[in-house]
Amino acid sequence: MTSPAIPSSQTSTPLTTEAAMLHGARDIRLEELPLRALRADDVLVEIRSGGICGSDMHYFADGRNGINVLQQPTVLGHEAAGVVVAAGSECGITPGTPVAIEPAVPCRNCPACESGRYNVCPTGICFGSPPTHGLFARHVVVPETTLHVLPNNVPPEIGAAIEPLAVAVWAVERADVRAGHRVLITGAGPIGLLVAQVAAARGAAEIIVTDINDDRLAVAARLGATRVINTAREDLDVSGLDRLIECSANTAALVSGIKTLGPAARATVVGQARPSVDGIPLAYLQRNEIDLVTAFRYANAFPAAIELARSGKVDLRAIITGSFPLTDVASALVAPIQDPAHLKVLLSF
Ligand SMILES: [Zn+2]
Ligand SMILES: [Zn+2]
Repeated sequence: MTSPAIPSSQTSTPLTTEAAMLHGARDIRLEELPLRALRADDVLVEIRSGGICGSDMHYFADGRNGINVLQQPTVLGHEAAGVVVAAGSECGITPGTPVAIEPAVPCRNCPACESGRYNVCPTGICFGSPPTHGLFARHVVVPETTLHVLPNNVPPEIGAAIEPLAVAVWAVERADVRAGHRVLITGAGPIGLLVAQVAAARGAAEIIVTDINDDRLAVAARLGATRVINTAREDLDVSGLDRLIECSANTAALVSGIKTLGPAARATVVGQARPSVDGIPLAYLQRNEIDLVTAFRYANAFPAAIELARSGKVDLRAIITGSFPLTDVASALVAPIQDPAHLKVLLSF
């Protein structure tokens, strides 16, 4: 006899959970928080991995990330994966299913959402983007629509890295990388290294990666970069490229990268932009009809990200350089600053 479906009203689920609450700069505390009751379309997920992102590090170090300022205590974390524990009455997913969580929740009604560009929904929220609580908690209750099922060979213990891979998938989509393209990727952090792998999967003929850290460039070379350049000591002696994908958040890299592009090329800004930037060679862009585009999070990119990880075309483990228990979240949030050789640092639960 098969076991009965678990009723949505079952109460063996926890009522509270331990979460990493940021109170201010350098002040993060593990606290027991109430879990909201499951609505019909909600799922309770036991978190198994969380990814530390640059934005998390900024909120922890400064109490702000760019123009977003922490106004009230907020649970951090937008990169996470886990296992379904219970599901509301209208959900199709079953307990035991491993899932990655897509943290952005758009309104689904505005022109941006209706056009498919839900990542730029003006009223959407994102878990872990204050004041919306994030995913660095032992359990979370989230709408079923935020979940993406993980394949067997991408366990939830590393599934948090699907979120930055979705960023890379969307960046390459916005960059419109095509087979045979010569592509420059500036910045060999986790996003740049994932972008390099996605660009290779899309058939780019040449993948040139720049950074100022030799350890990171060595990883890029292992992951398929056809050439790596340490711009701290080498000239960027390339020209006529088809695509620039800027992943370093460094203005000088953007400006020098644009100058490597040929006619009808495209530059895509992925690294967090400064409020305004002097020195963009606008006349050069115009004379060559080079498109300057931007990428913000992702839209409909999780399925492609999961498939790239499942097929082995993207090696997630190659960018994971450390793991800290939730109880040591403060150490995880400074690890990449203390050791620049770190790439993606995960939390374990
Ligand atoms: Zn992130
Ligand atoms: Zn919307």
